[in-house]
Amino acid sequence: MPQPCSIEDCTRTPRWVCDCCQQNLCLQHLNEHNDLLISQLNPLTLEIKALEDCLQALNIQKTIDNSREKLEEWRDDCYKKIDCLFEQKCRELDQVINEKVDQQREELNRIHLKITELIDAQETSRQDIDLLTSTIRQLEININNIEQICFTIVTSPLVIDDTFIFIKETTEHELDLSTLSPVYGTIHRPKGSSGPLTCNDRYLLIHQHPNLCLYDREMNIAKQTLWRYGRIWDMCWSSTLVNNTQNIINTDQHENTAHG
Ligand SMILES: [Zn+2]
Ligand SMILES: [Zn+2]
Repeated sequence: MPQPCSIEDCTRTPRWVCDCCQQNLCLQHLNEHNDLLISQLNPLTLEIKALEDCLQALNIQKTIDNSREKLEEWRDDCYKKIDCLFEQKCRELDQVINEKVDQQREELNRIHLKITELIDAQETSRQDIDLLTSTIRQLEININNIEQICFTIVTSPLVIDDTFIFIKETTEHELDLSTLSPVYGTIHRPKGSSGPLTCNDRYLLIHQHPNLCLYDREMNIAKQTLWRYGRIWDMCWSSTLVNNTQNIINTDQHENTAHG
C-alpha cells in the first residue's frame, strides 16, 4: 500500500515532493505550501524598498570630499614646488643682469670722479686724456653688450608618474599596513644611537652613534657630523629656518640647533 500524504492525519494520495519541505504531499497541501511561500515575497519587497531608500540617502559626497581634499593637498604641494623653483630661477636671472649693470655703474662713477678731480685741480696730461678716452670707449662697448646678452634656458620636462598617487580602498579608521611601500633599504643602527629621526623630501636625518648622519634618497650618507650633546629626545625639520636643511634637536641637556 502506497504511503499517504506526509501531513499528519491527511489520508490523500501524495502527488509530488514539495519543493520547500521535501515531503511527499497531496495536491491540497502542495497548494497550501505554495501559497505560504508566495506570501513570504511581500516582506522581501519591503526590505528591498528600505535598502533602496538607504542607498539613496548614502552620504557619498562626504567620502568623496575627504579623499579629494588629500588629492588637492598633493596638487597644492606640487604647485608650490614648481612656483618656488620658478621664482628662484627668475631671481638668478635678475641677479646676473643686475651684477653686470652695477659693475658698469661703479666704473662710470669712478671715471666721473677722476675727471672731476682733474677739472678741480685744473691739471691734466696727454696721457690722462688718452687713458680716460680709451676707458670711456671700453665702457661704451660694455654697456651696449649688456643688452646683447642672451640666455639659453635649458629645461627638462616635468615627468609626472601615475604611481605618484595610489588609491586604495580601506574601511574607516582602519590602519592598513599593506599600503606602506615595500622596504626600500635597511640602515644598520650602531648601539647607543638615539631613536628619533626626521626628514624632508630629500634627506633623512638620524643619529648613528657617535655621529648625526644625513642620508640621501639612495640611502647614502650625504653628510655626517660628530654629536657630542648626549641623548637626543626629539628632532624636527624646519625648512623656514636658515638654509633649507636646518633641524632642531632636543637633548636632555639643552636645546641645540644642528646645521644640516
Ligand atoms: Zn512543503
Ligand atoms: Zn495532504
